[in-house]
Amino acid sequence: MFRLSQQDEERARRLHKESIVADTLAHALYSGCVFSQNMLKRLDEFSKDVSTQVILDEMARMETQEVVGGSFKEYKERWEASGVDVASVSVGQVTPNVLLDIALWTRKCDSLDWLVKATSVKDIKQAKKEGKRAVIFSFQHNHIGDDLDNVDFFHNLGVRIMELTCQVRNSIGDGQGERTDCGLSAFGTRVVKRMNELRILIDLTHSGHKTMMDTIEISTKPVILSHATCSAVYKSSRSSTDDELKALAQNNGLCSINLVPGFLTSKNNQPSLDHFLDHLEHAIEIMGIDKVGIGTDWGSHFKTQDLVDRWNERMTSIYMIPELDYGDFPEGFEDWSDCPNITCGLVSRKYSDKEIEGILGGNFLRVFKQVVG
Ligand SMILES: [Zn+2]
Repeated sequence: MFRLSQQDEERARRLHKESIVADTLAHALYSGCVFSQNMLKRLDEFSKDVSTQVILDEMARMETQEVVGGSFKEYKERWEASGVDVASVSVGQVTPNVLLDIALWTRKCDSLDWLVKATSVKDIKQAKKEGKRAVIFSFQHNHIGDDLDNVDFFHNLGVRIMELTCQVRNSIGDGQGERTDCGLSAFGTRVVKRMNELRILIDLTHSGHKTMMDTIEISTKPVILSHATCSAVYKSSRSSTDDELKALAQNNGLCSINLVPGFLTSKNNQPSLDHFLDHLEHAIEIMGIDKVGIGTDWGSHFKTQDLVDRWNERMTSIYMIPELDYGDFPEGFEDWSDCPNITCGLVSRKYSDKEIEGILGGNFLRVFKQVVG
C-alpha cells in the first residue's frame, strides 16, 4: 500500500528481519479471533448454554492445548510471518482468570521449543540469537486487588509489566474512562513504590490523566504507554494529550502507538496504516525519536458474528470504551501477520535505519533494560 521502490522494499524487509521487533501489547496472539474454523466450530458448540466467563476460560484452554499438541499450526506460522521477536502478552485478559492464564502461557513456553518467557533484555536477545520468539507477561487489569503482597506474588510468577488501572476505577486509582479524575489512591502510591523496588515496568495506558501525572511524579523509574494514540491527531478514549506525552518524555519513558481502528480515526474514514503513522509521527515530534514504539493491541477480527457480539458485549461492559468494533481492522493491517507492513510504512516516511530499529524495538529495550534489567 506504500508503493515502495524495489530497493526500499528490500530495505524494509531487511530491517524487519534484523531488528529486534517488539510488540508492547500483542493481543492478536490469543483469543478466538485467530482460531481455525474447526476450533471456532467447537467453541460455538460449547458456547450454547454457558456464560461468557466459561467460554473465555475454554477459549484460553483450547488455544494452549491445540498449540502445545501441535494441531494449531497456523499459530506459529502467523507468528513467524509477523516477524515480532518479543511480544508483551496481557495475562488475565482473554480470560479474567489470571492464574489459569499464567499457567497456560507458562505451559506454552515450557512445551514449545521456539517460545520463551522473557524476564530480562538478556532473555530477549538470547531468544533472537537462537531464532526463538519471546513473551513478556503483562497486566492490563488490576489483579493486585487491595493486597500489596500481590505485587510480589505476580512478580514471582514472572509478570514484568503492569498497568495500574484499566479504564475504570480500582483500588490503585482512576482510569481513563472513569467519570472522575482523582489520581492515585494512597494504596496506589504504595503499589507504585513497590513496583519500582521490584523493577516492574509500570504501564499507564488506560490510566486517567491525574493517575498518570501522579505516577510520573512519584515513580523513580521510567514508565510507558504500551498501546496509546495521540489526542492531537485524533481524540478517543485511548488517546493521550501533548502534556501527558511531554511528561512521559521527561520521565524518559516510552509511548507505543496502537492499531485499534476506532482509536486511529473517526468512523467516517477507513482506518489505515497511514493513520497509525500519523499518530507515531506526532508522538515523535512531542517526545523524540528515541521514545516511541509499537503496541498493536489488535490484529484480527472474529470470524463468527456470535463471537463478535459476545466479545463486544464483554469489552463494552468492562472497559467503557465505545469505539471498539471487533469486526473491524485498519487497511494494511488486517492481521497480525501484516506487521512487516509497519516497517514498509516507516521506510515510506523516510526514517533512517537507526531510527527504524529504535521504533521497532530498540527504544522499548532501552526502557525495559533500565527498569527490569
Ligand atoms: Zn488496553
